[in-house]
Amino acid sequence: MTTPSSKKKFAVVGNPIAHSRSPAIHAQFAMQTGIALDYDTICSPLDEFTATVEGFFNAGGNGLNITLPFKEQAWALAADGLSPRARLAGAVNTLWMEAGVLQGCNTDGVGLLADIRRLGFEPAGKSILLVGAGGAAKGVVYPLLDAGCVALRVVNRSPQRALALCDEARQHLPQFSERISAGALSEASGFWDIVINATSSSLSSQAPALPGARFANRSLAYDMFYAPQPTAFMAAAGEQGASHTADGLGMLVAQAAASFEIWNGVRPQIEPVLQLLRQQLKTG
Ligand code: NDP
Repeated sequence: MTTPSSKKKFAVVGNPIAHSRSPAIHAQFAMQTGIALDYDTICSPLDEFTATVEGFFNAGGNGLNITLPFKEQAWALAADGLSPRARLAGAVNTLWMEAGVLQGCNTDGVGLLADIRRLGFEPAGKSILLVGAGGAAKGVVYPLLDAGCVALRVVNRSPQRALALCDEARQHLPQFSERISAGALSEASGFWDIVINATSSSLSSQAPALPGARFANRSLAYDMFYAPQPTAFMAAAGEQGASHTADGLGMLVAQAAASFEIWNGVRPQIEPVLQLLRQQLKTG
């Protein structure tokens, strides 16, 4: 029988955090894999993130997920143990300890890629429009380029943020310099195979205006935001000719699965958890 003290301890840190679906997702992964664990939520005071993380690991915690608004602070905290993709993303959503050194990874990008592929799309050889230049967008630029897309255009409401993201990517990934470009939302002209909404516009039921952006024949419009109904971005994309639309629930489960694998060395199944979550989202 498992005693409470033999369970591994995980948590997600954010502020606010009550809305998080991570505990439910990891509880499902634990059942699937037979790994005994507790997964809690921790609402960290905004000015006490470092103390929160240190307190968790000093008390024997095994791993943390990090969400808004702490991903960049987590990156700085794990400076001596960043994975290559976390180093490039400038943000960390997964922390753990190895030989007394805090390790950090960013699983948002692999989560997005896994979900795009689950939906039957392959980024290799495709032209991709990435809308947004915040933390979520930063986390997916390298994985999308590395997956072999031929063009990645980043557009943002504040164009200077998109340009900065593009400059940073060119500096760190010179091999992809020719493939990445950036501009304002009004500079999204072209035919796109995959359009990814990495803005938080759907929170306020708005779709970013992308004059000039056209959907290619077999195209995917992917909103990182998720909701019980199709988001404003998905609805607009459908009207504008996208052949497939999807929200970010699958990315959420896939990035959690990647964290789970880092911590436990076992890859959980995504599909059954995604189906359960979708059902829960619909029934409130
Ligand atoms: P940030 O706050 O870091 O960035 C927000 C981005 O949205 C900025 O580019 C901002 O533009 C843009 N934006 C906000 N409102 C609007 C608007 N009305 N019209 C156009 N652009 C707008 O947030 P994150 O990058 O962390 O998150 C972005 C989205 O991705 C959120 O919806 C979040 O829920 C989702 N997400 C989903 C994940 C998943 O697993 N499914 C994982 C991570 C994030 P500007 O720079 O001009 O302010």
